[in-house]
Amino acid sequence: MTSDGHVDGNALGALFRDIFGQEMTDRRGCCDACGTVTRLGAAMVFRDAPGDVVRCVNCQSVILVAVPVPMGVRVNFLALRWIEIPDNTPSAT
Ligand SMILES: [Zn+2]
Repeated sequence: MTSDGHVDGNALGALFRDIFGQEMTDRRGCCDACGTVTRLGAAMVFRDAPGDVVRCVNCQSVILVAVPVPMGVRVNFLALRWIEIPDNTPSAT
């Protein structure tokens, strides 16, 4: 944990696996506020809020918020323009 209380995006590896069904911390995403492209694992995660607040490593815009709810987790993709998800479908040969 850094002096400002954040950890890196690798802390959300389990959440990303629940959402996308695969390891995502090495996948790239783009901040909608500044256009920075970086690995999701490099994002800044603040865990002292009611949920996890994920901020862009460059401009600190909130790109994602994950809040626990009675049924599980509510994920709000705020300033996350895109993420890359590889096609893991076996090719038909
Ligand atoms: Zn940004």
